[in-house]
Amino acid sequence: MVKVDVEYTKLFINNEWVDAVSKKTFSTINPQDETVIAQIAEGDKADIDLAVAAAKKAFHRYSEWRTMDASQRGRLILRLAELLESQARYLAELETLDCGKPVKDAEDEVYFSASVLRYYAGKADKINGNTIPADGDVLSMTLKEPVGVCGQIIPWNYPIPMFIWKIAPALAAGCTLIVKPAEQTPLTALAVAALIKEAGFPPGVVNVVPGYGPTAGAALTHHPDVDKVAFTGSTEVGRIILGAASAVNLKRVTLELGGKSPLVIFNDADVEKAAQIAHAAAFANAGQCCCAGTRTYVQSGIYDNFVKKAAEIAQKRRVGNPFDAVQQGPQIDKEMYDKVLSYIEAGKAGGAKCIAGGDKLGDKGYYIKPTVFADVKDDMKIAKEEIFGPVQSILKFDTFEEVIDRANDTNYGLAAGVITNDITTAMTFAKFVRAGSVWINTYDHVTSQTPFGGFRDSGLGRELGEDGINQYLETKTVTLALPKKPQL
Ligand code: NAP
Ligand code: MG
Repeated sequence: MVKVDVEYTKLFINNEWVDAVSKKTFSTINPQDETVIAQIAEGDKADIDLAVAAAKKAFHRYSEWRTMDASQRGRLILRLAELLESQARYLAELETLDCGKPVKDAEDEVYFSASVLRYYAGKADKINGNTIPADGDVLSMTLKEPVGVCGQIIPWNYPIPMFIWKIAPALAAGCTLIVKPAEQTPLTALAVAALIKEAGFPPGVVNVVPGYGPTAGAALTHHPDVDKVAFTGSTEVGRIILGAASAVNLKRVTLELGGKSPLVIFNDADVEKAAQIAHAAAFANAGQCCCAGTRTYVQSGIYDNFVKKAAEIAQKRRVGNPFDAVQQGPQIDKEMYDKVLSYIEAGKAGGAKCIAGGDKLGDKGYYIKPTVFADVKDDMKIAKEEIFGPVQSILKFDTFEEVIDRANDTNYGLAAGVITNDITTAMTFAKFVRAGSVWINTYDHVTSQTPFGGFRDSGLGRELGEDGINQYLETKTVTLALPKKPQL
């Protein structure tokens, strides 16, 4: 077993490490063997109150942060990117310990997160309003101003990237933040908090309060001094957050929620390549991915051949100790492990044909065999609900019009994919599918420059790219009266 030092276990408020007011702690668990890694300070309402007060003070008009040049904000964000990269291996190991993802994947995610920081560092001093030729004897302009104090609530599936996707645009915009990491994965959020302090961000600009959703999370979403809430997680909790955010004051809200994304493969595709793309789309991060392509629609001409290939690839997937060279580690926790296994049972009971996996793997840790169902029908539970585990459902289709209707027959709309050599088919699919990201002949290609987020029940607003920073800015219109034309 790889030994990873855990240095930070307290709340990070106002650039200080503090115990919870209640002195309570909770355990964070290693999903590989179900052992306790560390006790973490458990934030609750009293701690959120302290963190919000620190963030509010840091947002005061004469604070160091508010009076700092925008270019200097950019420099601090760049410095954080450098620190992240300098600690990439350590952060990756800490992440793997806490959430069980393969350490190579965790390391790639640290570098990706650094790229997101760099993108927004460059944006910090390029936030421009407009001058507007308004009617009347006036000069009008817009100023882009930071939204204010932001509460950011993140999930456990990509702990470091989710943390950075949230903080990078908000810091570039000049906001101050309180982040609540997921209860399952507090360790890397705290380790990154230490780097935030080292980078030189003033006290109160970023505060990190681990704790549970219904307590710490709810306190944040209800707090009257919080101006905005950004959340990634389940659609169910997204609905609760939207309600909470309008209960006391009207907070700005961005939500990045679940999905049941279709990947559509046409007869003209190279079957081997398509099966590889579809496999990665369904199984990346042990299927714990909001944009996972879990509905694999395959046209009838290549269906049988595709199904055979998909099963072969899944059977060869290397699953095991995430510190080894594997493709898949354990699921995040017992609750998700049981939930995924119950979906697999539902798939079998519902009449789908299980052609790979279909069971847990071993008796220790939350490992599940990569599972593939063929002959899945649209009305089956496994084709309708987000499973969030290593389960691929393959469905057969005949025509373009049929598959576009079936792809859109869901309340979700996060992502979609299409594999074909016909540009017209690809672009027509991209035009008609209702999803926030559409990948053609690839999948999961997410970058710092391209906006990401969902249609319909998959969310509100976008993260990353230009859209990502706009979610942290208010537009202020300033109009100056000019003298009327003098009498000559
Ligand atoms: P979740 O409950 O939506 O959790 C996401 C975050 O929200 C966590 O930090 C959580 O705190 C917090 N939270 C929970 N209830 C809250 C409340 N009432 N007020 C404020 N914050 C609250 O997700 P989950 O339970 O971890 O996973 C359940 C399902 O969500 C999965 O099966 C999957 O379908 C979906 N999911 C989607 C994504 C995504 O990327 N879109 C990511 C993770 C999960 P705790 O630490 O207490 O949980
Ligand atoms: Mg854990």
